[in-house]
Amino acid sequence: MRCPYCNSTDSRVTDSRPDTEDAIIRRRRVCEQCGAKFTTVERIQMRDLMVRKNSGKVEAFDREKLRRSIKLACRNRDVGDEQIEKLVTSIHRRLETETPDDTVSSALVGQMVSDSLLNLDPIAFVRFVSVYRKFSRISDFKKIIDKIPEDDDNAVVCKLPKTSLF
Ligand SMILES: [Zn+2]
Repeated sequence: MRCPYCNSTDSRVTDSRPDTEDAIIRRRRVCEQCGAKFTTVERIQMRDLMVRKNSGKVEAFDREKLRRSIKLACRNRDVGDEQIEKLVTSIHRRLETETPDDTVSSALVGQMVSDSLLNLDPIAFVRFVSVYRKFSRISDFKKIIDKIPEDDDNAVVCKLPKTSLF
């Protein structure tokens, strides 16, 4: 840490103490060059995750938007708000920890959501993928449905609400 008085980078920590909420640690330092005393503050910096869209446009990761799109796909399915929140948290965490830089592609986000939904509810999976990949033909659905393992075919299809995704 550079000394604010003489610009030397040679300083020594003399004391470290957390603040009252343990969210910040203050370190008292002494400059080995000029003897000046100063304090540095260490705090947690959450990563500012960015998403690069197919168009190349980069925007801030919007957790709320992710939650809304999953919730919409799960509408009238047997998936609770708590499960959705858990899913959003796990995807958010994976994006933050498994990516080397702060920018992820929207394709990766979409893939993570698709994979998770396929495990959770195949109908929600098909709904999500159809919106995310902008399905325009029935054949698009056929292709994706053919990829779902037979075991998942026992998922009960609910009557879609009037304001459905389709
Ligand atoms: Zn100094």
